[in-house]
Amino acid sequence: MFTHVGKENVSTISQFEAFREDLVVRGPVQIAVSLVCLLVIFMCVRYAVGLGRLRYADLHAQYQQLNHDYFASELKDAQVEWSHLNDPPAMTYTGEAGGTRIVLDVDSNTSDSDVLESLQHESCHVQTCQSVQSTRQDAHGSPFQKCIERFGGNP
Ligand SMILES: [Zn+2]
Repeated sequence: MFTHVGKENVSTISQFEAFREDLVVRGPVQIAVSLVCLLVIFMCVRYAVGLGRLRYADLHAQYQQLNHDYFASELKDAQVEWSHLNDPPAMTYTGEAGGTRIVLDVDSNTSDSDVLESLQHESCHVQTCQSVQSTRQDAHGSPFQKCIERFGGNP
């Protein structure tokens, strides 16, 4: 009888020890895993909020600002919109009934700097489209390269 109780106690103590060991060994790991999960969730939410803000940004106002700052407002006005493009991050359509239209690809433009780079590139297409059409030269030829120099890079 006494021996039996003793065995139970030993078993309870070893279970307690195992549980305590679990807490000591696994506790910090579980806390670290939980923190990483929380961080991932936080980053995803921040990314989604950022994308949402970007999708509702006033692209036309950004184009006008670019036109004002780099072209002395001499560029033709353009309609600027989001769409799904197959390959390029952005496209400029000129000579349409509705005037000039710049389209930004939703999957390629995921940050403010992407949008700015695409708008800079497309604004140079707006500026050079007439000379490109009349001379049938490369759309990214020397007039375009000269235009893009004003942005200090090669977007
Ligand atoms: Zn281009």
